[in-house]
Amino acid sequence: MPRPAAKLKSAAKPSRAPQIATVRPLTGTVFITRQVHFNSAHRLHNPMKNQRWNEEKYSLCTNPHWHGHNYVLEVTVRGTPDPETGYILDLGELKRILHRTVADRCDHRNLNEEVPFLRGIIPSTENLVIAFWHQIAPHIPPPGALHCVRLFETPRNFAEFFGPERT
Ligand SMILES: [Zn+2]
Repeated sequence: MPRPAAKLKSAAKPSRAPQIATVRPLTGTVFITRQVHFNSAHRLHNPMKNQRWNEEKYSLCTNPHWHGHNYVLEVTVRGTPDPETGYILDLGELKRILHRTVADRCDHRNLNEEVPFLRGIIPSTENLVIAFWHQIAPHIPPPGALHCVRLFETPRNFAEFFGPERT
């Protein structure tokens, strides 16, 4: 009598993991931030005022022989993640934009004298965030939009700018 065929044991079951052919985009406004660093010299000085006025307003910060800061620039972009990538903007691309438009132009420079886009402004932290905004904003690709430029002059002192339309 022939033996019944041995039942095939499925030792290694083929994977039944579902093949996901679609993605489920999520919507919602998200804020992403990149930080870059640069070191610069500057001096707070209003050339339309006399030395006494400048010393009263700025004290040591108006020293004609300059002083330096280790600046930390944080830039926030807002948007809804792209349904195909999940990104608002690749943070590596944001880093490159910040270096190209601001950090590489200011690093190891004198902000009063060597940076063309800062010419004629008093390089206070307040003025710098406004000037940096105008440098950066046109380079942020959709669907992202520039939300905030935050500049630390020291670990305890910083200024933020949310754009001319918010003022
Ligand atoms: Zn300073």
